[in-house]
Amino acid sequence: MSFFENTANQGHQSIHQFYDPQTGLKAIIAIHSTALGPAGGGCRMWQYESEAEATRDALRLSRGMTYKNAMAGLPMGGGKAVILADPDHPPSDDFFRAFGRCVDSLGGRYITAEDVGVSVDNMRMVKQVTDFVAGLPGSEGSAGGDPSPWTADGVFLGLIAAVQHRLGNATLANLRVAVQGVGKVGYDLCRQLHEAGASLVISDVNEKNLARAQSDFGAQVVAPDQILYADVDVLSPCALGAILDEQSIPDIRATVIGGAANNQLAIAEDGQRLTDRKILYAPDYVINGGGIISVSMEYSGDKTEADVHAQIALIPERLTDIFVTAQSKNLPTNMVADSMAESIVAAGVSEPATRL
Ligand code: NAD
Repeated sequence: MSFFENTANQGHQSIHQFYDPQTGLKAIIAIHSTALGPAGGGCRMWQYESEAEATRDALRLSRGMTYKNAMAGLPMGGGKAVILADPDHPPSDDFFRAFGRCVDSLGGRYITAEDVGVSVDNMRMVKQVTDFVAGLPGSEGSAGGDPSPWTADGVFLGLIAAVQHRLGNATLANLRVAVQGVGKVGYDLCRQLHEAGASLVISDVNEKNLARAQSDFGAQVVAPDQILYADVDVLSPCALGAILDEQSIPDIRATVIGGAANNQLAIAEDGQRLTDRKILYAPDYVINGGGIISVSMEYSGDKTEADVHAQIALIPERLTDIFVTAQSKNLPTNMVADSMAESIVAAGVSEPATRL
């Protein structure tokens, strides 16, 4: 689908392509909406099969950020950057400074931070050339730093709410949880699940990340093509998107799904497929909002870690609201969340009760 067709369907504002001949940087920045504030969203570095695939990802992810930021009550619109490069062969510092200049050229319409394949050190280079960046540690007790642990906190709290709603359990103790992808967020989530008494089944395509989580938490390892079908209570997708689809959903054994990965549903109709199977799906952009809450509070410049904690503590309430509404209206949870997010964006203001 072309950008113009996509925009007609999904309402993106603009898409920007950058090439820096000195460093070889190829980057795309998509801005979906600035209705609630500057477009906030991380930067993903990935070896895409084609430019078209990278563009599709940027468009999908930036739209998701509009919904995520609205539902988190943040004064930010939705945007996303993708860099077309191999995250296993990290590029030079100059490469990230070149990316920073791309961000800077948008004059603050887009605020960047870390996502898949991008580290805090990479963002330090970005910061050398632009102020439109967050995800960097500040002074003791102030909001900010790597968003991943905050994302994991929100997912952990959200899973407790989901388990309570679907299974009636007050905690995650003695439940079996499958975690797909034990990178920055997945590893930290595993730590919290392990401490809460859950038993873990994990998979990853990165041997180093897999071995670390296996030895630290005594997790059972399964092959990447088996993790979605593990015999568990909860499935937590924390790798890449589009894993819940017509093929995978019929064989999933978990009754609760909630994780950090963006765009877990291949298409919106997959939400109905999950509902038909009585699987409770925690909409990804609601449960994984912890990281962007930290980013937004860091960017605002005057917030503390306690403020970030307080805002993340609202994630379970938002999810429960969605679960209860979905149940009473007999609708899939993703549809309920979409319509809540769309009304917040249409009103042009963040949720009044939680506005920062
Ligand atoms: P990461 O790159 O640190 O970790 C991702 C892990 O998934 C890696 O270990 C990778 O090897 C693994 N992986 C990739 N493909 C896999 C597969 N097919 N099967 C199993 N494992 C696979 O990234 P992250 O920052 O932990 O982010 C994880 C997901 O959460 C991404 O979708 C990201 O967009 C989303 N997310 C992250 C944040 C954040 O704060 N970092 C915030 C919101 C959403």
